Order: sequence, then structure tokens, then C-alpha cells
Amino acid sequence: MISQVYWVDGHIDLASMAIRGRDVLSKCSHPQEACISIPDLLDSPIRTFFGTIYTTFTNGEFGFDSSDDREGAYQAGLEQLAVYDQLVNDHHLNKQSHGLSVGSELSMLLVMEGADPIRNVDEVSWWRAQGLRAVGLTWSDGTRYAGGNRSFGPITAEGIELVSALDASGIVHDVSHLSDEGVEQLFDLAKGPIIASHSNSRLLLNTDSQRNLRDDHAKELLDRGGVIGLNLCTQFLAEPFDRETHTATIEDCVTHVLHFCALAGNNNQVALGSDFDGGFSPKYLPIGVKHPTALNELANALQEAGFSKEELHSFAHGAWERVFNSVEC
Ligand SMILES: [Zn+2]
Repeated sequence: MISQVYWVDGHIDLASMAIRGRDVLSKCSHPQEACISIPDLLDSPIRTFFGTIYTTFTNGEFGFDSSDDREGAYQAGLEQLAVYDQLVNDHHLNKQSHGLSVGSELSMLLVMEGADPIRNVDEVSWWRAQGLRAVGLTWSDGTRYAGGNRSFGPITAEGIELVSALDASGIVHDVSHLSDEGVEQLFDLAKGPIIASHSNSRLLLNTDSQRNLRDDHAKELLDRGGVIGLNLCTQFLAEPFDRETHTATIEDCVTHVLHFCALAGNNNQVALGSDFDGGFSPKYLPIGVKHPTALNELANALQEAGFSKEELHSFAHGAWERVFNSVEC
């Protein structure tokens, strides 16, 4: 039991929730429908989260319908950046711009899920100055920079330039949602740390979907010192690969964690990347972890599975801290 420990969550789409109408300053009143707000986080052990700027052209909901619309994508990114900056200005949370340490105050690391809001590589330093700490080149359907887990395809010429600009600014690479082809290119291109902020084991899901990590990719990422964040969406925790037809359990979470730990050869490179409310409601969270306040149940299950106290601390916060404290910038 590690109830006094603060957690770092590697993936929460807070800004896009706010833009879709979530009142993030009020506790969620229907826990079956939503579980993320500032008060809900403060009720939980999470004190630092990776707050995404999440955009896609897929359905036009972010105001641009093509990756070629650089200005539209940029404006969509700015809109989400403004959500976080307003929360910071109003003293609801802090933005950690250097290093990473979790404490009693609520804080975030600014990250990008889909890099289209970066109009060109010359803007990377501006985004870094806004606090940007990690970038996934694409969401599922691809960007100007790379093919996604659903669209497939490589990192583009512009994406190759972006990878080195991210390295030059000390911004961490995130492979969640990147195509298999892109993951392999990134391993060749990247100089800095590579993480998978919110991905599970493809092998355990018995699917060809590229959304979750292939074992050889996971092993390479771990061998390079990266960290994998456990995604809590039912669809990514248990077969079949269809969240409508079944539920997942805490044991399924433990199975994915232990699988990656076995690939790593240690229990210190897997962490949390919950994706709470990121396109799925608590209905699609595992039984027993329907709200971030229940994370200690996951810690208890890992302890029963053999995690030491130190390893539980690593899962809760230490693994993410090590990656982001290792970056020179
Ligand atoms: Zn995602």
C-alpha cells in the first residue's frame, strides 16, 4: 500500500476535454460518464500529469481538415495551450518546464499528441519556450510529419527534420500512435529519450493493430532507457480488441506491466499513462480503477505481484522523473 505517494500520469487530454465543454474546475458529477477535472485529480494521488495538446484533422472538430492547413492546426494548438496557461495563471496548477519532480502541488508537463500545430521546424524553440516537453509526431491518422497507427506510412522528410529539431530543444520523443514504420525510423533518427506515453502490449492483445507496442519495439525502447506508460482503456488491456464486448480488470493491467518489465529485465521502466477520459468514458476503465482515486488498488495489485516498495514508487512517479530529469535543455 503506497497511499501517501504522489503519482505522475503520462497522458491526460485535459485541454481538449475543456474545449469540448468539460468544466475542468468542477468535480465530475456523473462518475460513470467522466472522471477528470482539477478537483477530481486533487482527490486522487496524481499530482503531475502530462497535459496534451491533442489535435487531428480527421473529423474537423479542431478546426482544420487537412494536415496541409498549417495555420488551422497552429490555431488549434494555441487554443489548447491557452487552456493550460489560463489554469496556470489562475493558480490551479503549475507547468514544469525543466526537469520533473512530483510534490503536493498539482502540476503538468506540456506534451503534444500529433505535431501538426508546429507549423514548421523553426517554431520548435518557440514551443519549447511555452514549456513543451514531449512530442508524439502523430495521432492515429497521420500528420505532415509521420504516419499513424491507423494511416501507416513513414516519418516524412519534414518529420525527419522535426525529430532533430526536437532533439536540439531537449524535447522527448513519444511513439504512442506512431506507425510501426515510423517507430523503426525514429529509433534510427532520435538522439534523445524515447517514451511510449500511453501504450500497452500488442502481443497480449492478439491484434495486428499498430496502436499498441510490438515486443521488439518495446524492448528496443526499454533497452535505450525509455519508459512505457500503461494505458487504462479496456480495449488495450484485454482481448478481444473491442471495448464494447467485455471488461478489463486490474489483473489485466498487471499482466501488461509485468510483460514489459520482463522485456526490460527490471521493474523500473513502466509507469502510468492512463488516458483517463481521453475519448473513452469510465465505462471503459478496468473494474476497480474507475476513477483516479482508485490508483492505489493498482499499486496494491503490483505489490501482490512482487513489486518492492521502491519499484512501486518508480511505477507511480520515479520512472517518468528519471526520463525527464535526464534531458539536457
Ligand atoms: Zn492517444
